[in-house]
Amino acid sequence: MTELFGSKEKCLYCQKREMSNSLEVIEEEKGSGKQYQMFVCSPECETALRAFMSFAESKRWHFIGALLGWLILSGLGAILGSVVHRSFILVATLATAGFGVAVWMLPFVTPQTIELFGVKRGIVIGKIGGVVLAVVGLGSTVALLL
Ligand SMILES: [Zn+2]
Repeated sequence: MTELFGSKEKCLYCQKREMSNSLEVIEEEKGSGKQYQMFVCSPECETALRAFMSFAESKRWHFIGALLGWLILSGLGAILGSVVHRSFILVATLATAGFGVAVWMLPFVTPQTIELFGVKRGIVIGKIGGVVLAVVGLGSTVALLL
């Protein structure tokens, strides 16, 4: 089964609407065998889109690991911080900063974000989100130490 991802009127990578020389990109999801049909405006966008997809595919578990680590550490930090000693909250704030760095390095935004903004802007949005998380994490670490 082939499912259209994005639209035929807009480049999935850069969001340009000049689609007179559009190219079709077919990607198969590993495991499910489901195919996604995507459209891009140029060979450059096809190369960039494929590069991002294979990067995302190869680093997917790194991202999931970072997300789980962040959830576990911030949960632990919050619990120990309120039960044992306030300073354990630092575990949560440092984990947030670390996760922000991970998101900046691996800006895997949701498919919804990609459909709305395209891959190119989606990556930028992901990177900004990572920086915001890192700043919030570091800022609250510093605030706790002061
Ligand atoms: Zn394009």
